Amino acid sequence: MIEAQDLEKTYDAGGAPALAGVSFCVQRGERLAIVGPSGSGKTTLLRVLAGLERPDAGAVRVDGDDVSERAPRKRGLVFLAQRDALFPHMSVGRNLRFAAAPDDRVAAIAALLEIDGLLERRPAQLSGGQRQRVAVARALLTHARGTLFDEPFAHLDPPVRVALRRRLTALDRETLGALIYVTHDHEDAMNVGDRVAVLIAGKIVQCDAPRAVYDAPATLDAARFLGPLPMNLIDGLGEELGFGPFILGVRAEHLAIDGDGEMRAQVERVELSGTDAVVETTSSAGRVSVRCAAEDAPALGARIGLRLDRSKICRYDRSTGARVA
Ligand code: ADP
Ligand code: MG
Repeated sequence: MIEAQDLEKTYDAGGAPALAGVSFCVQRGERLAIVGPSGSGKTTLLRVLAGLERPDAGAVRVDGDDVSERAPRKRGLVFLAQRDALFPHMSVGRNLRFAAAPDDRVAAIAALLEIDGLLERRPAQLSGGQRQRVAVARALLTHARGTLFDEPFAHLDPPVRVALRRRLTALDRETLGALIYVTHDHEDAMNVGDRVAVLIAGKIVQCDAPRAVYDAPATLDAARFLGPLPMNLIDGLGEELGFGPFILGVRAEHLAIDGDGEMRAQVERVELSGTDAVVETTSSAGRVSVRCAAEDAPALGARIGLRLDRSKICRYDRSTGARVA
């Protein structure tokens, strides 16, 4: 179990904090995805947990022990940095055996990550993606109470990223102890995390099941950041539609093109993706995106009506940005 309690960190005196009071708990066998935009404090958080960076305040506990004053190697955690260094003078095989795991385990993990054909090579003879897979394999082979991954697949091509993510989530949960998986990618977070924590400007604004975070982002910032598309945020229609004086948040798939709908809009752009289309419009309430079947996509410039799925609307306070229950 890994526990963060009220972690605070500011690099430059007088500057904005990189961590502004971060608390959470991840159980053994659980996977927590931490997602946030670039600069939101993700790497700082992992470095503080790993003991590579000293927090200004707060505590880190592993399986109940306060490890805040312990050196990185004494915390029982394995940390895979964003760009991990393998030992350049050692073959892939020796890099893996350095984790001191039994041979059959090394073979199994090497096969899982499809690097079993590369064991004799030096890191310099590998592609970036292969090097990253070796680094992930080494982390998986290190027996630890908790695993900290900092955007492990961010630099890989999407199909490779998806394949590796599937393998990671198919692993026996005991292998990873408690896993904290940091990413800026919405899809990664949704598919790796049992829970997803949204980190924005050094604060966890929400920590919940992936679906809950997607359906009802806790703040306007989270609503703008999370998802394949930002949530539509509609200002100025709340009272007219009976939702009160709030900004309304609605996902593109919860709007329908309907001449009898509540809103008037004009089509600015249509983006096709296989079966789906994303239709970007300008409306009286600003820019609004709508998802529809590709065959139903309207023509550019068309004037259309939009109907909101009223059961799916989130309401946000205009001044605090917080979701209103
Ligand atoms: P993320 O990993 O989410 O992109 P980081 O933790 O790397 O975010 O950075 C959080 C904030 O702290 C950023 O504003 C970044 O510029 C700042 N920062 C990170 N590392 C340092 C450092 N060593 N010295 C000064 N500022 C830093
Ligand atoms: Mg980072």
